[in-house]
Amino acid sequence: MEINKYSHRDYNNYIKEFPSKDGRFGKYGGAYLPPELIPAFKEIDYAYETICHSSKFISELRRIRKEFQGRPTPVYHCERLSQELGKCQIYLKREDLNHTGAHKLNHCMGEGLLAKYMGKKKLIAETGAGQHGVALATAAAYFGLECDIYMGEVDIAKQAPNVTRMKILGANVIPVTHGLKTLKEAVDAAFEGYMKEYHDAIYCIGSALGPHPFPKIVRDFQMIIGIEAREQFMDMTGLLPDVVCACVGGGSNSIGTFIPFLADPVEIVGVEPLGKGPNVGDHAASMAYGSPGVLHGFESYLLQDENGEPLPVYSVASGLDYPSVGPEHAFLHDMGRVKYEQVDDEEAMEAFFLLSRKEGIIPAIESSHALAYAIRYARTHDTGSILVTLSGRGDKDIDYVVENYGTGERFFNK
Ligand SMILES: *Cc1c(COP(=O)(O)O)cnc(C)c1O
Repeated sequence: MEINKYSHRDYNNYIKEFPSKDGRFGKYGGAYLPPELIPAFKEIDYAYETICHSSKFISELRRIRKEFQGRPTPVYHCERLSQELGKCQIYLKREDLNHTGAHKLNHCMGEGLLAKYMGKKKLIAETGAGQHGVALATAAAYFGLECDIYMGEVDIAKQAPNVTRMKILGANVIPVTHGLKTLKEAVDAAFEGYMKEYHDAIYCIGSALGPHPFPKIVRDFQMIIGIEAREQFMDMTGLLPDVVCACVGGGSNSIGTFIPFLADPVEIVGVEPLGKGPNVGDHAASMAYGSPGVLHGFESYLLQDENGEPLPVYSVASGLDYPSVGPEHAFLHDMGRVKYEQVDDEEAMEAFFLLSRKEGIIPAIESSHALAYAIRYARTHDTGSILVTLSGRGDKDIDYVVENYGTGERFFNK
């Protein structure tokens, strides 16, 4: 792969070329599926390629984004925070103001609309922390579709408010009771459920990963973040930002932010969770400490043991603790176009409290990782600007934060 082949060309050329027809971003991606599921994924791929280009689909999605989701979300200049740190200016793309409080609805509404055009009656997914389940249950309610959400029993107990939200929205929460009873088992159970009824149902993944065509579908629906942000930032300042950054869990808010800036002379940074530090099991920084491998039907960087089994992961942000990362990130990493940096729990929590106090915005702990990198950058650069995608709001996190970090005094009395 030529380094920076696309760095000064229209990104439209890039998205036409990647992924390839068989779902590859260079050597990453693909579709490692049990034979029984191959027809189901082929059907989704074919339907998406035909439906997503129709003007009816595009105009309906546009109307949903405007009238139901509240898009475009604004870009906001953090004047007080920037001044506190130095001369570099920090801007936020406010995905926390998207309906339901995070970016996940961007692809869930797209997947729901695709299901409707395909004549499906049900949406099926798994969820870990429950954020994807809530976003998908919202989409199902909007489109009048049934919704089955598979969730490990351990996660159901931990995430009671999200389970309640899903049920209020009319979703069917199916407890998964085998193995460790968390996300990995829920993924397997959701695939099994889907295999039984794919004629009437569609599987909806929670991030820009999984077997082809999901990394592409989710990227395409999330690209609205970067498309809007680029135009809004240029309207506000007359310039492009020097740096664009976003947090990377599975990689959906980040890929959606990054791609529209790919052809610009802009530094792009993905921020991974370093948790408690670099020891095995203490973090979920797949790019920094992983190696190429296959999990959940796709190839990418994977935190794995010598037998290729995924290693345990941890982050203070439950939406970031996944042992792999979307395959397009692996590709952009190896190409050298996107840089991946790490932020630990402590630095993320400092950013959480700083944004709350200086700007009156309580960010999700996931988003606080991206923000922490921007703060680090602003402290070490005397000029320029950095645009951060604030993937979600922090209301969901406050009980956990108070219990573990209080209300932030210790970060301000150093
Ligand atoms: C789920 C989630 C993330 C991580 O998911 P990506 O696919 O990496 O974007 C980040 N922020 C928030 C608020 C989330 O809910």
